[in-house]
Amino acid sequence: MDSTVKVQGLSFSYGKDEILKDINLSFERGKFYSIIGPNGSGKTTLLKNIGKTFNVPKNNIFLLNEDIYSMNNKEVAKTLAVVPQNIAIEYDFTTYEVVLMSRTPFKKRFQDYNSEDFDRVQRAMKLTDTWELKDKPITSLSGGEQQRVIAARALCQDTPIVLLDEPTSHLDIQHQISFLNIFKELKTKLTVIAVMHDLNLASLYSDEIILLSKGSVLATGSPSKVINRENIKNVYGIEVDIIRNTSNGSPYILIKI
Ligand code: ADP
Repeated sequence: MDSTVKVQGLSFSYGKDEILKDINLSFERGKFYSIIGPNGSGKTTLLKNIGKTFNVPKNNIFLLNEDIYSMNNKEVAKTLAVVPQNIAIEYDFTTYEVVLMSRTPFKKRFQDYNSEDFDRVQRAMKLTDTWELKDKPITSLSGGEQQRVIAARALCQDTPIVLLDEPTSHLDIQHQISFLNIFKELKTKLTVIAVMHDLNLASLYSDEIILLSKGSVLATGSPSKVINRENIKNVYGIEVDIIRNTSNGSPYILIKI
């Protein structure tokens, strides 16, 4: 199958510090991928490279077979949506307006929003349980509510690729699960790539896991292949036992103290 996202030979530095080292990965449609690894291992930096936050050199990253190097911001926004870790919206837009803005890349200059855009906004906001918040200023919402609004914005953008950076960090357990369930249900049409902190949630929801250590890919494959005692000990330096989650047989980490 053709990959929707291809990363080949990607290295990346902030100044002199090399953060990513020769990353080679391929992502397909219809799958949920988690990127895991300790703090500072390069997870967010990898996601930001895929989302073209930085100027990536030629021949390193391809979205739908097109080199991201030659794509402009509007083309990237039509291809991938991002739910970032820190949501920085300082202006007093309503939540409705924030979600509606996701339609902008699809508009020609000065073209107005139409009923199709409004329908999409409503659908995405209902799906993420944010419709009730539509008239509130985004700045007045809690971190968890904002995170759900940004998820609505990403869904409304209607792109084939979605990048999630620690998507559940501000959410209570109920909203964590409903958030991940949304993307699990929609993933048949999508490639979802998520930086995940909770290893057990990553294991439960992912088709494939990428384990990063010090800027390199240490292991990649199914949760059963990647989540094992040796890898966890190697990368996180902790002793664990692995049992199986009864819902789908995925590995479940028990921490030993
Ligand atoms: P992770 O998401 O795995 O916690 P990051 O990708 O955020 O890791 O960071 C990887 C490394 O890059 C860390 O050592 C971090 O301090 C450094 N880093 C992240 N962002 C910047 C930046 N804007 N400038 C300089 N160094 C950075």
